[in-house]
Amino acid sequence: MRVDRDFKLDFDDVLIRPKRSTLSSRRLVDLNRKFEFRHSNETWEGIPVIAANMDTTGTFEIAESLKKEKMLTAIHKFYSLDQWAKAINSNQIDLEHCAVTFGVEEAENAEEFFDYLEKNNLNKPKFICLDVANGYTELFLDLVKKIRSKFDNPLIAGNVVTGEMTEALILAGADIVKIGIGPGSVCTTRTVTGVGYPQLSAIIECADAAHGLRGHVISDGGCSKPGDVAKAFGAGADFVMLGGMFAGHEESGGELIEKDGKKYKQFYGMSSDTAMERYYGDIKNYRASEGETIALEYKGPIDKTIQQILGGLRSAATYVGAKDIKNLPKCTTFILKYK
Ligand code: 5GP
Repeated sequence: MRVDRDFKLDFDDVLIRPKRSTLSSRRLVDLNRKFEFRHSNETWEGIPVIAANMDTTGTFEIAESLKKEKMLTAIHKFYSLDQWAKAINSNQIDLEHCAVTFGVEEAENAEEFFDYLEKNNLNKPKFICLDVANGYTELFLDLVKKIRSKFDNPLIAGNVVTGEMTEALILAGADIVKIGIGPGSVCTTRTVTGVGYPQLSAIIECADAAHGLRGHVISDGGCSKPGDVAKAFGAGADFVMLGGMFAGHEESGGELIEKDGKKYKQFYGMSSDTAMERYYGDIKNYRASEGETIALEYKGPIDKTIQQILGGLRSAATYVGAKDIKNLPKCTTFILKYK
C-alpha cells in the first residue's frame, strides 16, 4: 500500500485570479477552436463543449440545439440504426458536430454501423467515442488499437484519470482521451467503490501528458455551473463534456414529472438501476449500481443554458486576458481557497 501525499484539487477548491488585460470586451473573445489530431487526418472546428453520451443528454434533439453554436454531441449508444437513419435523413443532426458512441460490446458492430450508413448513402458522424467506465484494462487498449486500424475518424477513448494511462491510450490510437472517474453529478463510484480522482488535478496532469504527445483531452464530469467549465478549460482541457448541466431541459431525455404543481425531469447515471433496467432488463447480481436517479427541476429550452455557459466562458477569458479558449490555460492562475 502507498499513500500519495500530493494534494489534489476539485473545481470547488480553486478560483481563477483576475489579471490585467488588453481585452476591452467579452465580445472580442473567440470560443471557436480549430483542431488537428495526433492520428486522424481530419480536422475539426467549433466550440469544444460536448453533451455527454448519456441517454438523457446525448440525444438527437440536444444535438440539433448544440449544432447552432457548433458545439458537439456524443450521441448515446442505444439508438438503433433505423433511428440514426431517420435523424440523418431529416437533417435533424449535423454530423460534423456528432460522435457515435460504442462500449466494448457495441464496438464489435462498428463496421456494420458505418457500412449501413454508406450503403444507404447517409453521411457519417465525425467522431467515434469509445466509452467504458474503467479505461484501465488491457482489453480496452486492444479495442482502441483495433478501432484505430479500421477508421480514420477522430477517436475519443476513456475514461481514465492519470497521465500514464492517457499516454498509453494515445499511443494505442486515441486522438482524444476522456478524463474523469467519479466526478459525475449522478455518479456514485466514489461512495460505492472508494475509487476516484479530484477532477481539476486529473485534467492538469492528463492534459500535460496528452499534449506532450500531440494528443488532446476531454474533461468529463463534475461541472455543475458555468464557472466550472471555465476552470476545466483553464486547467488545460481541450474539450469539456457536460451531463447534468444539459439535463432537465425540453430537449433532454428522461421522464417529465409533475409534483405539487412543479415540473421535474428525471436524470440518471448510465450505470444506475434505472438505466440498467431500461436497457438490460435487469441488474446483474455481480454488479453494484454506480449511478443514481434524481429529479431535476425542469429548466425549459436548452438555448438559455447554452448562452449562460458561453457567456460565462467569454467573461472568464476577459478577466484573465485570454483572447480565445486555447489561450485560457496560459492566462490562468488558480488560487487555492482556504477551507
Ligand atoms: P456530469 O456532467 O453530470 O457531472 O457528469 C457526466 C458524466 O458522468 C458522464 O459523461 C459520465 O462520464 C459520467 N456518468 C454518467 N453516468 C454514470 C454512472 O451511472 N456512473 C458513473 N460512475 N459515472 C457516470
